[in-house]
Amino acid sequence: MNAHFSFQQHVPAWQTELGNAFTNSRDLLEFLNLPTENLPLSKQAARNFVMRVPIGYAECMEKGNPDDPLLRQVLPVNDELNSYPGFINDPVGDLDATKHGGIIHKYHGRVLLITTGGCAIHCRYCFRRNFPYPDLQMNKTRLFQALQYIRDNSEVSEVILSGGDPLLLSDNRLGLLVQKISQFQHIKRIRIHTRIPIVLPSRITTQLLENLTRIPQQIIMVLHCNHSNEISQAVVNACSMLKQHRIHLFNQTVLLKGVNDRIDQLVQLSEKLFASNVLPYYLHLLDKANGTGHFEVSETTAISIMGGIKAKLPGYLVPKLVRETPGEASKTGVCC
Ligand code: SF4
Repeated sequence: MNAHFSFQQHVPAWQTELGNAFTNSRDLLEFLNLPTENLPLSKQAARNFVMRVPIGYAECMEKGNPDDPLLRQVLPVNDELNSYPGFINDPVGDLDATKHGGIIHKYHGRVLLITTGGCAIHCRYCFRRNFPYPDLQMNKTRLFQALQYIRDNSEVSEVILSGGDPLLLSDNRLGLLVQKISQFQHIKRIRIHTRIPIVLPSRITTQLLENLTRIPQQIIMVLHCNHSNEISQAVVNACSMLKQHRIHLFNQTVLLKGVNDRIDQLVQLSEKLFASNVLPYYLHLLDKANGTGHFEVSETTAISIMGGIKAKLPGYLVPKLVRETPGEASKTGVCC
C-alpha cells in the first residue's frame, strides 16, 4: 500500500482574506445592494489605480447608501480623470528626497524606508498612487544599501517603515527587518505607518507581534483611520493586542470632502479612537496628487472645522491640522 503524504502549506487567515478582496466595482456594489447605473464609475480610473477592498472593510459600509463615506474612499470614479491646478504626481517631493535603498530622508533625525509597494486597500485619495514603487521597494541589494545608510548617519534616531503598507510583509521578513535596524545603537525608535489594523485587522496576529517586539527599541505605530465607521469590533480587538504588546498607537487622518469633512464626524472619530487606545495625532490636508482633486477641502473650511472640534473635545483628543510642503523641515501646522 502506498503512503500518500500531503505537504499543505499553511496560509494565514489574513492572506486568504486579502486574496478574496473586492477588485472590481460591480462585485462590491452588488454586495452593497447598490445599482451601478446612477454611479459615476470609471473603468479608466480603475485601470490607472486598481480597486482593492477587503471584505471586512466593505462590511463596515452601509448597504444601499451610494454616499457611504467608506465607499467613497475606494470606488474608482470619473472625477479621478479630471486635472486640477497644482495637482501633480509627487506632491510631497518624495523622489527628490530619495537616497539609496528606498530610503527617503527629509527630516532631521528620521529616515523613512519604503518596504513594499503593496497595500491591503487602495485609497483613491492616496498621495503615493502615482509612485514608481518598482524602482524603490525593498530587495536584497536595496536593503543592504538602506542599512548602510542608517549605519553611516548616526544623527538618525528613528526609522519609519512605510510603503505601501509594511504590515503586508511576512512575519519573518518584518521581524528580520526590525532586528537588523535595531542593531544600530543610535536608533531609539522604529515607527510603522500602516492602515492595516483598520482595514485588515486579521493581520494583527500574536506571531506578528512577537516578531516585532523582540527588539529593545520602542515600537510606534501610526495608524491611518479616516472615519469612525471604520472602527469595527475586530479593529478594536486588534488595537487592544497592539497595546498589550506595548506598541504606542497614534492615528493620522486625511481630511476628505464627502468622507469626514464634518465636525461631528471628526469628533466621533477622536472619541472612538481613544476608546480603542489610539491617540488622534494629525489631521492632514490632502496632498495634491493627480487624480485626487475631488477630495480637497479648502484650508479655510479646514480651519473652521478645527474650531468646531476644539469647542467639543479636550485638548488631548484634538488632532493637529497639518500639511506637508516639499522642502520644509517638518510637517507644517495650519492653525494654532
Ligand atoms: S493604505 Fe496608505 S499607502 Fe496604501 S493606498 Fe491607502 S493611503 Fe495609500
